Amino acid sequence: MKLTVLGSGTSVPHPRRSSSAHWLDAGVGSLLLDISGPAVHRMAEEGCDWPNLDAVWVSHFHLDHVGGLAPFLFGTKYAPQTRERRKPLKVFGPRGTEKLLRRFDEADDYGLFEQPFPLEIKEVSPRSGFEVFAGLRAETFSTPHTSESLAVRLTDAHGASLVYTSDTGYTESLADFARGAGLFLMECSFFRSKPVKTHLELEDAMKLARMSGARRVMLAHLYPEWDGVDIQAEARKLWDGEVIEARDGLRLEI
Ligand SMILES: [Zn+2]
Ligand SMILES: [Zn+2]
Repeated sequence: MKLTVLGSGTSVPHPRRSSSAHWLDAGVGSLLLDISGPAVHRMAEEGCDWPNLDAVWVSHFHLDHVGGLAPFLFGTKYAPQTRERRKPLKVFGPRGTEKLLRRFDEADDYGLFEQPFPLEIKEVSPRSGFEVFAGLRAETFSTPHTSESLAVRLTDAHGASLVYTSDTGYTESLADFARGAGLFLMECSFFRSKPVKTHLELEDAMKLARMSGARRVMLAHLYPEWDGVDIQAEARKLWDGEVIEARDGLRLEI
């Protein structure tokens, strides 16, 4: 599987880090992990095959994670590149995903559900498993961030695995969920003295990394307070595994 970081930042405007989105090319299909507002254009900027995107994962309803969904569907409705498309686009998300999109749609009769191709909204529960598309399995985990927020574990037919926490507070059971993952893509909003319990700071993230036994860890959802901090050097003081700082445009093989 190949991962491209589209947005390594947060809701705070930043010159080099746009808000949450990661493109996963699983060979047999593509999955967008969260769809922030900037993600809609970041996909094109990174040369991702957005007209043929197979599925979108919505981790929770904060706008730095889902704010691009309606604009993307407004784009696919009219773009020349999707006019001939007949393959369905699946949107997986927590319970309430369809209601959220319907409310946006009704705000001005956008007709977002009438696409050239079938649009399938699939709401998933915590601790459930489903097939994203043939060759990619997913399992979900309820995270202490919002009432609906979910982490996802993705496994391809060859056994390669990625765990994407999206936004989360600290809970040891997240380490169990990420056990032995090939890549543990974690949020690490803050360096230290986090102002809220519903995000992670570096010490939390490194504890989870150690407990999970993951082979590699990537830290994303980085607030501007990380600017000027050597994340890898700071991480190494707490854990001796491989830590990668997410940066917009970074590509990685899993
Ligand atoms: Zn959030
Ligand atoms: Zn966020």
